[in-house]
Amino acid sequence: MLHKNASGAPCALVSNIQKYTIHDGPGIRTELFFTGCTMNCLWCSNPETIALKPQIGIYPSKCLSVDKCGYCVKVCPEKGAPLEFSNGVINAVHMTKTCDTCFKCTDMCPSRALKQWGELMTIDEMLRVIAEDRSFYQKTGGGVTLSGGEVMVQWEAAALLLEACKKSSINTCVETALNCPREHMEAVYRCTDLVITDIKHMDSEKHKAFSGAGNELILSNIKRTVELGKKLVIRTPIVPGYTGDEADIRAIGAFIRDELGNNIVQYQLLPYRKMGTEKYDSLGIPYPMGDYQPPERSAWEADLLRLANILVTEYGIPAAAGSSKKLDI
Ligand code: SF4
Ligand code: SF4
Repeated sequence: MLHKNASGAPCALVSNIQKYTIHDGPGIRTELFFTGCTMNCLWCSNPETIALKPQIGIYPSKCLSVDKCGYCVKVCPEKGAPLEFSNGVINAVHMTKTCDTCFKCTDMCPSRALKQWGELMTIDEMLRVIAEDRSFYQKTGGGVTLSGGEVMVQWEAAALLLEACKKSSINTCVETALNCPREHMEAVYRCTDLVITDIKHMDSEKHKAFSGAGNELILSNIKRTVELGKKLVIRTPIVPGYTGDEADIRAIGAFIRDELGNNIVQYQLLPYRKMGTEKYDSLGIPYPMGDYQPPERSAWEADLLRLANILVTEYGIPAAAGSSKKLDI
């Protein structure tokens, strides 16, 4: 779906832009998080990117109180009807038919107790932000990474932005789950230098139980990515009890060796980190992993290195524990 602004200019709905990132592609990068996702991973740390629409995040602890401030009520065209307070402090915004999602309240909130997640940006606006750090890209081999959410949901805007970046000689990378139609993927790939994707599990039923989607389409798109000669990084999030047993990793290793001919830049085993819980709270969504506690670093670090070593020595795969190892591209 291609969003357009009031002037008809093509746009993307973007939840966040992070500058100076170093883990999603080579060098120093600017990372844009597109909204919209086709999956529902239990361990998702970006819940604000799942819906393909702007939302309001609420941080009650930052509210100055409606008596002392109250700007949100004053500017609201609905006279504050969608806003709910508890002991004078904001605790909900009901984005129902009474709220016309004008986001005047988020714009006016002086303490950022109300925050807009998701903003329409034109291709030119995004390119301007990306190009600000051109000198860092040139010095470090960096560029732009489009992430999400699932960037392929807004594939037309992604393709236009990547084309504009390539015309400006900026290196491009997309981080995608590849749970998408092949035509969308190939349209985005036309101006993509590096693809980063996941294999969460080779067992499709387990994959579906953890992420909301089976893996058949994803694995087929990964094979096509290699056929097209794209530079590819594959990752597995290691979530003990869900993914990353030795048998699971060996099954992924066999797929990379036998189906992809080891034609990848790097395979990364990424440790689970409990992140984004405050964003779930701000959206009023329960964290799907509940009270799940990951093992201590001392326990998983050695195991990730051991698994990476198995893939290197027994499968000939350029495997690494974590995402810090330099990409050989
Ligand atoms: S988004 Fe607009 S209509 Fe909705 S609560 Fe805020 S100010 Fe009121
Ligand atoms: S504008 Fe922000 S700080 Fe002020 S009352 Fe509303 S939510 Fe609280």
